Amino acid sequence: MDLTWSTDEEAFRAEARAWLEANLAEWRAECGGEPASGDTREGFSQHLEWERRLFDGGWAAVSWPVEHGGRGASLWEWLLFEEEYYRAGCPPRVTQNGIFLLAPSIFEFGTVEQQAGILRRMAAAEDLWCQGWSEPNAGSDLASVASKARRVDGGWVLDGQKTWTTRGAFCTHLFGLFRTDPDSARHKGLTYLLVPLDTPGVTVRGFGRLDGDEGFAEVFFDDAFLADDAVAGGVVLGQPEGGWAVAMATAGSERGLTLRSPGRFLATAERLLALCRDRGDAVLRRRAAAAWMRAEAYQLQTLATVTKLAAGAKPGAEASLTKLWWSELDVELHEIALDLLGPDAELAESAWAKGWQFSLSGPIYAGTNEIQRNIAAERVLGLPR
Ligand SMILES: Cc1cc2nc3c(=O)[nH]c(=O)nc-3n(C[C@H](O)[C@H](O)[C@H](O)COP(=O)(O)OP(=O)(O)OC[C@H]3O[C@@H](n4cnc5c(N)ncnc54)[C@H](O)[C@@H]3O)c2cc1C
Repeated sequence: MDLTWSTDEEAFRAEARAWLEANLAEWRAECGGEPASGDTREGFSQHLEWERRLFDGGWAAVSWPVEHGGRGASLWEWLLFEEEYYRAGCPPRVTQNGIFLLAPSIFEFGTVEQQAGILRRMAAAEDLWCQGWSEPNAGSDLASVASKARRVDGGWVLDGQKTWTTRGAFCTHLFGLFRTDPDSARHKGLTYLLVPLDTPGVTVRGFGRLDGDEGFAEVFFDDAFLADDAVAGGVVLGQPEGGWAVAMATAGSERGLTLRSPGRFLATAERLLALCRDRGDAVLRRRAAAAWMRAEAYQLQTLATVTKLAAGAKPGAEASLTKLWWSELDVELHEIALDLLGPDAELAESAWAKGWQFSLSGPIYAGTNEIQRNIAAERVLGLPR
């Protein structure tokens, strides 16, 4: 493997760096200082301004084709962009569940009409997508989803409840799994539906997280009529009753490459090393160096993954190993920072303390780490159930 970047790739990196630095400063100035968290109402609208700025500059979804609002960049360039994005200190993407989770499945399973109708509006942050999978009685065991969709003339009637819907109270659309064959069991009989949240009969109720931000919502469906043409190109993604396969492809993007690129952790690791320069003893510094190396290792492993994807492979069960790596690394990086800061971390309400709180959810969302270990044991290593 050749690990050097080409002249064109270095030029792409320089262009991204210059644009991000200039625009981040302008956006912060427009917000009148440090913007609020994107998981609060006030912060979300500030972050939409950032998202639209990214889109206008052609940086919202760099690896997508130009006709869908992207820049036609390679996956390698996307990795470079992500590195620069986090190095500059740009904010988490409030559009991530659309752009990084749903969109790869729209490219893989969507019709030409769905791709044309959905992707560009998603990149432009005109339509804001949330993920409607978890239910009060279906989390790790996603195949026990009980929300129903009944086929009627011209559409579907939805009943049931979703929960833990990230930023659901601020979004316009939901992608979700619904049981469309009431006699079916488990993975069969599920359909992947695309639902505008202003559909009559859909109620969205936001609720607070442990860190105080209103980052979650519950979504209720009461005899909600979802017309076939409520979303351009149709509301079913993939085949009716073939929703499980589409959902597993989305999960591959969530756990594997796109949701949490190495750039995010490389930047955190660099900030951790900077923190070590005037704090900490030899033990803490050794822990920081080891965590920094694990961030570098994730970068190298991702380069190998991108090489396979560029050759046509699909993210498979190996995505579970990636998810274990990034989620545990994030906790580790933040724990070391808190140990370095001591009581200062909490007294000053530092970004490290907030980041640590969020890092604790990494082993839960995108499928818990216990479940990822089961998948890795059975489907990667071939161990018995
Ligand atoms: C920050 C955050 C954002 C989220 N965003 C979304 C979202 O946008 N959309 C959405 O649909 N969901 C979202 N979720 C929900 C998330 O997907 C679920 O929390 C997760 O799948 C676990 O489900 P559960 O909470 O019902 O826990 P449970 O499934 O009840 O699990 C409880 C515990 O039991 C363990 N466990 C369960 N089954 C097994 C098993 N077979 N073997 C070993 N251990 C097991 C689990 O690992 C866990 O520790 C989010 C969660 C978080 C924390």
